[in-house]
Amino acid sequence: MSSLAQEVALGKSLAAGLWCIGQIAIEPQENGRFALNHREDAGRNDLIAHTQPEKAAEIARFDDAGKYRPLKTAPNLRRGWRLVLESVAELRVALDLFYPGRLDVFVAWENNALSATPLRETLARQTGMYRVAAKIGEEEANTLVGNFCASDGGCLRTIMWRRDENGTTPSTLLPAEKFDPRYDQTGLGETVIPLLCQEACNLLVAEARKSVQGQDRRGQ
Ligand code: SF4
Repeated sequence: MSSLAQEVALGKSLAAGLWCIGQIAIEPQENGRFALNHREDAGRNDLIAHTQPEKAAEIARFDDAGKYRPLKTAPNLRRGWRLVLESVAELRVALDLFYPGRLDVFVAWENNALSATPLRETLARQTGMYRVAAKIGEEEANTLVGNFCASDGGCLRTIMWRRDENGTTPSTLLPAEKFDPRYDQTGLGETVIPLLCQEACNLLVAEARKSVQGQDRRGQ
């Protein structure tokens, strides 16, 4: 989807009252501006202000403890900042840095054009050192997804894929809301622009590989 299509969809979502995305709150300001902050920082008056959309990449890089965030949709976005942006175009740039690729997937979903890839298919197409990940057993995959993708401590995306082409649930350990794009995965109960997961990420694939290798070692 083009940047323009994303900006149009973003504008429509905001007009419809969707003022949150992941852990970020978006506040309308005068003259078409927007102010962003961590949702748990509402009401604080000691936030450090920034005005460049590109600053989002820096804010998203490390958590509050200074630890690198390999998964940008993990529920550990740093707090203490405020980002004031001039336009929907700047807002799109910032959100795409906070949550890479998520606006594009959201627009596809809104247009009924999102295709999700079953976990087994994602694992089967791995090459090189990750090829072994496809050997993960059903029970192990169920446990892995249930732990690794959980919104509480794992990842705030809504899972759109199934475990296999028969439509098996990704994990019986996850609640039904984990698959509902209308549900606020932070648990704060607001209307949100959802962060959608259309296929298993590289981090989950890497964990599946570790799980298989761990099993192999235990079996030796
Ligand atoms: S597979 Fe999707 S839901 Fe699971 S951790 Fe990766 S991005 Fe998040």
